[in-house]
Amino acid sequence: MAKKFQNFIDGKWCDALSGKTFENRNPANWDEVIGTFPKSGKEDVDLAVKAARRAFEKWRLVPAPKRGDIMRRVGDLMVARKEELARQMTREMGKVLAETRGDVQEGIDTAYYASSEGRRLFGATVPSELPNKFNMAVRVPIGVAGVITPWNFPMAIPTWKIFPALLSGNTVVFKPASDTPATATSLVEILLEAGVPGGVINIVHGGGGEVGMGIVGHEDVDLVSFTGSTSVGKKISEVAAGTLKRVSLELGGKNAQLVMDDADLDLALEGVLWGAFGTTGQRCTATSRLILHEKIYDRFMGMLLERTKNLRVGDGLQPNVDVGPCVNEGQQKTVVSYVEIGLAEGAALACGGHIPSGPGLAKGWFHEPTIFTGVKPSHRIAQEEIFGPVLSVIRTGSLAEGIEILNGTVYGLSSSVYTKNVNAAFQAVRDIKAGITYINAPTIGAEAHMPFGGVKQTGNGHREGGWTVYDFFTEWKTVYVDFSGGLQRAQIDNY
Ligand code: NAP
Repeated sequence: MAKKFQNFIDGKWCDALSGKTFENRNPANWDEVIGTFPKSGKEDVDLAVKAARRAFEKWRLVPAPKRGDIMRRVGDLMVARKEELARQMTREMGKVLAETRGDVQEGIDTAYYASSEGRRLFGATVPSELPNKFNMAVRVPIGVAGVITPWNFPMAIPTWKIFPALLSGNTVVFKPASDTPATATSLVEILLEAGVPGGVINIVHGGGGEVGMGIVGHEDVDLVSFTGSTSVGKKISEVAAGTLKRVSLELGGKNAQLVMDDADLDLALEGVLWGAFGTTGQRCTATSRLILHEKIYDRFMGMLLERTKNLRVGDGLQPNVDVGPCVNEGQQKTVVSYVEIGLAEGAALACGGHIPSGPGLAKGWFHEPTIFTGVKPSHRIAQEEIFGPVLSVIRTGSLAEGIEILNGTVYGLSSSVYTKNVNAAFQAVRDIKAGITYINAPTIGAEAHMPFGGVKQTGNGHREGGWTVYDFFTEWKTVYVDFSGGLQRAQIDNY
C-alpha cells in the first residue's frame, strides 16, 4: 500500500480539509506509487497563513545567530541523510543519482551558508549630516513568505528560498510541485528535527491553481518567492499586484553554448553533453541551443553525434544510466510535439527524436537525446523553452554574430562561451544579455554562494543564492538616533 503523506500546518501533520488526495508515481516506472498526498484548497492555505502569521511574532524576535544554529543542524541532518534523500528524489522525478546527490548537496551548502549569515545580516552605519546624531540602516524580517517551487530541483530550489527566508526571521507557507511532494516533505521533517518551531514552517500540498494561487492572492502573505515557468510567473505577477506584495520570479530559459573556432573542442564537447542532456534537459539552465563557429562545425558535429548516440537512457537509479525519464507524461508529450515542430520548420533530425524502447523502458516517460541541425535562430525550436533532451544547433561566422544569436530570445538566464582568446571571452561577458555567463564551462553548474537569476523574461530582477537572496527576504529599516538633546532640523539648521 502506498505511503500516505500529510500537510504540516500550525505544528501538526494533517489531511486536506476536503479529505481529497492525489497520487505521485515514479516517472521511470509508472506502476510504482510514491505516495498519496493531500489535495488541498484555499481553506487549507488560509489555516497555514494564519499559523505562520501567529508564529512570526515570536520567530522574528529569535536572535539571528540562534536561527543560524538551527540552520547548521539542518545542514548536518541533510549530510547524514544525503543518500536516502537522493534515492527518494530519483524515484520521484527521475534524474540520475549523481545529479540528485548534487541536488541535496546544494541544499547542504545553502544551509551552511544560511547558518553563517545568521552572524552577518550586515546593515550599514552612515555619518549623519547633523552633530550628535547616529544613522544606521538595519535589516528586518518581512512577515509571512509564500514559497512555490518546481519539480526539477526538488530539494535545492526549496532550500534556496526557505533557508534564507527563515534565517531572516520570516515564517513560511510552502507549496511544492505536485510532482515532487515527497522530497518536499522530507525537507520539512528535517527542518522540524533541527528545531524550527511549528507554525514557522508550514507545507500545503496540492495544485498550482488552488494552493499556489491561494498563497499568491492571500492578503496576509507578505512576499512570494516563485520558481517555475514564465507563463505561470506572469499570472503570479498579475495576482500579486492586487495586494502589492513583494514577488521574486525565477522563470524559464533558452540557454546557449557558443563554441568558437579556437576552442578546446574536447572540453566544449563534454560541456554540451552535460549541459544539454543532464537532468534530461529539464533544467532552467539547460543548454538547448548550440551555436557553432562554421570553421569547426563539421568536426564538432561528428564528435557530438558519436557521443550522443552512445548516451544510455533509463532508470536513474541504475548506475550505468546517463539520461533519466521526463518527469511525467505531459512533459514527454511536449518533447514529442517539439520534435514534430522542428521537422515541420525544416530542421534536420541529426539524432534521436523518438520514444525509446527496450528492457526497462516500457513503463517510463523516456525520450531519446535529440539533436536538430539546420536550425535558424527564428525557429520555434530555437526560441521556445522545450524542457527536455532536445538540442538545436545553429551556425555562426563570428563572435559578434554568435552573441547576437545567443541574445536573440525573450529569455536571459544562463550562457556559455568556449574560446581560448581572452579578449573574445571578456567581450562575450560584456555583451551577453544573461544573468549568468560561463567561460569554458557548460550553462549549468550554479554554486550556492553566488547570485542566481536571469534577465528579460527569465525573472523580475531579484537574485537567489549567496548574499543577494537576503535582499529579497529582508526589509531595510532606517534608524536615526539624535543624542543632541535638542530639535535638529535636517537640511534646515545645518545649511
Ligand atoms: P510550473 O508549471 O510553472 O510550476 C511551478 C510551480 O508553480 C509548481 O509548484 C506548480 O504547482 C505551481 N503552479 C502552477 N500553476 C500555478 C498557478 N496558476 N499559480 C501558482 N502556482 C502555480 O513549472 P514547472 O513545470 O514545475 O517547472 C519548469 C519550469 O520552471 C521551467 O520553465 C523552468 O525553466 C523553470 N525553472 C526556472 C528556474 C530558475 O531559477 N529560473 C529553476 C528551475 C525551473 P503544480 O506542480 O501543482 O502544478
